[in-house]
Amino acid sequence: MTEPKARKSIREISPIDVYKLLPKTNCGECREANCMTFATRVVNGELTVEDCPPLTHSKYQADHGKLQELMRPPVRAVTFGTGATAVRIGGKYVLYRHEFTYHNPTPIALDVADYMAKEEIASRLKTIGSFAFNYIGRTLRLDAVALRSTRQEPAAFASLVQDVAGQTDLPLVLCACDPAVMAAGLELVKGRRPLLYAATRENWKEMAELALQYQCPLVVSAPHDIPGLRSLARTLAEYGVSDLVLDPGTSAEPRLAETIYGFSQIRRSVFQQHDELLGYPLLGAPISAWLTPELSPDVVRWKEAWLASLLLSRYADLLIVHSVEGWVLLPQLVWRFNVYTDPRKPVSVDAGVRTFGSPGRMAPVLITSNYALTYFIVENDLKSANIDCFLIVADTGGNSVESAVAGRYLTAQSIASALEDGKMADLVDHRHLILPGLAARLSGETEETSSWHVMVGPRDSSGLPDYLKSSWPPKEV
Ligand code: SF4
Repeated sequence: MTEPKARKSIREISPIDVYKLLPKTNCGECREANCMTFATRVVNGELTVEDCPPLTHSKYQADHGKLQELMRPPVRAVTFGTGATAVRIGGKYVLYRHEFTYHNPTPIALDVADYMAKEEIASRLKTIGSFAFNYIGRTLRLDAVALRSTRQEPAAFASLVQDVAGQTDLPLVLCACDPAVMAAGLELVKGRRPLLYAATRENWKEMAELALQYQCPLVVSAPHDIPGLRSLARTLAEYGVSDLVLDPGTSAEPRLAETIYGFSQIRRSVFQQHDELLGYPLLGAPISAWLTPELSPDVVRWKEAWLASLLLSRYADLLIVHSVEGWVLLPQLVWRFNVYTDPRKPVSVDAGVRTFGSPGRMAPVLITSNYALTYFIVENDLKSANIDCFLIVADTGGNSVESAVAGRYLTAQSIASALEDGKMADLVDHRHLILPGLAARLSGETEETSSWHVMVGPRDSSGLPDYLKSSWPPKEV
């Protein structure tokens, strides 16, 4: 048996490899300066091959195909839903995030089921649609709805699908293992490209027919049986279903270790053994925590929460959960945000001058970095203390104050420029700037470079209210 051939990893693809296959006309239709710039951004994962419109012309057909193959991620990307709320899952280029970056943050789908009363369904849909949390300037939300058939009755499932489809535009996951039940629900939302759950050893042919007829992606399920999952994926791919999602099985205790090992084993097979038959997005089902009998529902919720976090860390590209409690969901959304933040780019906010409260002409002028976490901590401390002031957000390349000083992203010269660019001398009648304590060593040089007196503030912005009470206005103003 021959070993599967290794494709070039994303880190081995150079902009020249991409450039050679582009039209090389520098037409600008991609809004880039030229084809080489475009190629560089494609290799960086910031643009895709499809962002070059001329590639769709017939004369570039061959090169377009080669480019698609060159840039195809080892874990294929699959989209379900339509329009603005559609979600793309998978599309992973690397096993470990720090090797490049992870694309397509894991969507979280909450379930509704055909045993639930209409009021409960409406209430859960309202929670799913309205759940939002602002985290360092980004709004974190839930992404999809999983509709479960528990009664195995086509009419009951159709009624559930109809009810839900009328109340939400979010992408849908239809969960029914009986093809007749699935068909009854699918017919009602055939234009919304739902994800179908699931093809098994027993029903794969009927499910494949539905997926092909309605052009929907299909989940393949073989719990805790990787060879069986691989074999089913091969069968379905050969049958013509190209958009597949793998369900390797999720269990809380007593098969937790097996669950995490299974997810990890599949991903390692893709990236280390180049196994293309396992190169599909993975579905994790923390909802399975509810299958374990527990005395307290809160214990089950707690299990579901840590199961979701574990799966987010270990390669799940889509999660189905049941709990609607904020203390279960919020940690997942924050953890997802952090896992999917591009490690090559610090999370930053726009540089510039921010106004807090109603600052007069004698209001304090402070400065901080444009690292998002730093900025929002400072903002929160200023707002909660009702401080009227001006805050200069310096462009430190998204670095925190301490790193920016060490890396010379924040210097006396850049502070002087920020004061000038923000026209601070026109906004206040004094010339006193409060530096963060962590940038204290720039104080002397900043005084020499700018015409401003420098005051050294606290190292932590939580100390600003007390500091200002004791130090503002300065005696010499
Ligand atoms: Fe080059 Fe395509 Fe961009 Fe035109 S649209 S500049 S051909 S990459």
